[in-house]
Amino acid sequence: MQVKDLPTMKKFTFPVYEVVTPVTGRHFLVRAMTVAQESLIRESSTSDSKRLQLLYQVLFDCIENKEPPFTSIEGFLKNLTINDLDALLFGVIVSTYGETQDYTVKCPRCENEIKGKFVLPEIIDITAYDGNEDLLLKEVEIELPISKYKAILKVPTLYDERMLNMNKGISKDIISKMGEYLIVKKLIIPGVETTKTGETIEKEYIVDKAIEIYTTFTNLPAADAKFVRKQWDELFGKYRIKLEVPMHCSNCDNEFKNPINLLLEFFRLAWQ
Ligand SMILES: [Zn+2]
Repeated sequence: MQVKDLPTMKKFTFPVYEVVTPVTGRHFLVRAMTVAQESLIRESSTSDSKRLQLLYQVLFDCIENKEPPFTSIEGFLKNLTINDLDALLFGVIVSTYGETQDYTVKCPRCENEIKGKFVLPEIIDITAYDGNEDLLLKEVEIELPISKYKAILKVPTLYDERMLNMNKGISKDIISKMGEYLIVKKLIIPGVETTKTGETIEKEYIVDKAIEIYTTFTNLPAADAKFVRKQWDELFGKYRIKLEVPMHCSNCDNEFKNPINLLLEFFRLAWQ
């Protein structure tokens, strides 16, 4: 008896797109999602932290060139930032859904519905860090203008973000507000101490827990918090990916730019 040859299935390769992360300067080859991965994304609406966890897992799995430190999900989370995530989202969107996407936008002036198409690689605007420092290790001390507190600024990783979201017993609302201060590693508060002999000496108080940093900021002048955000943007936040679709309303001749949020775009496409 002769065994019949099994039919040979035609091989195919997943579309792959190359991206560079704007903060950490990593090159990744990102392949298209499978149907199973897309279903995972669709079913991930249970909670924010679950949703992020699934998203990170899917993006990690879609990386074709996994070299150290990106050989484990933990290494992936500890070595990339939120702004870097946009590069991966961009790669997954283009490789999975193609370069051209449809849009429907309401004109902000006359509410006319504008429909059209945009080509993702044509509207991408990347500001990438090109220095020699490792921005993940960089810490910068600044002095807040009114309180004179000192803040040590850093760039939070995806891991920091995930640890924050896994905090049990803190409301979602507070967690999201705490998230705004993940850019502060430490606060140094000037103070005085009275010794046993009645002398007063200068002393610094250190605040380094996320919840304490957040509560300290809630009692500081708003201008100090704004200053922190501005300084951070200048040091780290400006390295990012920006997408804007130039729009023209034929009804009222209004010209405006429609920004694309890659995370929302990714979930929108997965749901289509
Ligand atoms: Zn209009």
